[in-house]
Amino acid sequence: MRVVYPQRLALANTPTPLQPLQRFVAAPDAPRIWIKRDDLTGSATSGNKIRKLEFVLAEALAQGCDTIITCGGVQSNHCRTTALLCAQLGLHCCLILRGEPPADIDGNLLLDTLAGAEIRYFSSPDFLRQMQNGLLQNTVAEFAKNGKKAFVIPIGASDGIGVWGYVSAADELKSDFALHEINPGYIVTATGSGGTHAGLIAGKYLFEHQADVWGICVCDDEAAFQKKIRSDLQEWNLHYQLVQPVDDWQINLLDDYVAPGYAQAIPDVYALIAELARLEGIVLDPVYTGKAFYGMVQEIRRGRFADTQDIVFVHTGGIFGLFPQRDLLIS
Ligand SMILES: *Cc1c(COP(=O)(O)O)cnc(C)c1O
Repeated sequence: MRVVYPQRLALANTPTPLQPLQRFVAAPDAPRIWIKRDDLTGSATSGNKIRKLEFVLAEALAQGCDTIITCGGVQSNHCRTTALLCAQLGLHCCLILRGEPPADIDGNLLLDTLAGAEIRYFSSPDFLRQMQNGLLQNTVAEFAKNGKKAFVIPIGASDGIGVWGYVSAADELKSDFALHEINPGYIVTATGSGGTHAGLIAGKYLFEHQADVWGICVCDDEAAFQKKIRSDLQEWNLHYQLVQPVDDWQINLLDDYVAPGYAQAIPDVYALIAELARLEGIVLDPVYTGKAFYGMVQEIRRGRFADTQDIVFVHTGGIFGLFPQRDLLIS
């Protein structure tokens, strides 16, 4: 199917390469692992969020906005990418961060600061309460009083517009598979706010991929993500009137690898991050990609993905999240 994309800014370094791992093996006779290198979509702006922001920021500019408001954790990759892209586009960026102001300005937060973002902290319980009380819309109103037109981007840029980012990546994967003459059975991604996963699923149906998409949950449980991903897909479909019902599209999720919680990982994940860096020169992060890659490897060892020769792992970036966790990586 030929897909007509909505308006879009050319911000990401795409297409990204699809590369097979050379030395790491999950198990004897395991499928060959290919990495979609979305850690190469930019330098400071690398990762998956820039793909979504190409569409979301195009919409903000089309609406004549001069300010972007978004939110996330203190070490949010999404907030870092948004802050830098706002600087690139000459927009004011207001970040609403969940957590206490840390003693050390490190990792993503250092880049937010360099990019000149206005940062507002809300401690975890307060963040939730304020969000339910319309914090984002209240912030828009506050900017309006000062003559600014603000645009709100939801957490992770995961919404009906953001879905386009990974529809476009699935479009690229179609060409990657043809180039390498492979027909992978599975595409695996980390699922954190759901937009990457939603886009890959939409892409599967639009471009008729054989590969099933599997998401490894990094924070919430399967039920929460089933709901979130379905609603992003419905919003996308409603708005763009592209396809028939998205309601029977299969959403495959594994939530066995969330523990001990968001942005925390078990020692095996840190060990695997080091192993992959050493064997392949590929750097995963402890919050998303390390956890998801670990989950995929465990599932390969249990035989879940045995009926294919090739499996694709989407490297969604996150390198700056390593630095605040340095002590856990080199112990
Ligand atoms: C945000 C993020 C994810 C999760 O993507 P979602 O679309 O939010 O589910 C995965 N990996 C990295 C590095 C991220 O920053």
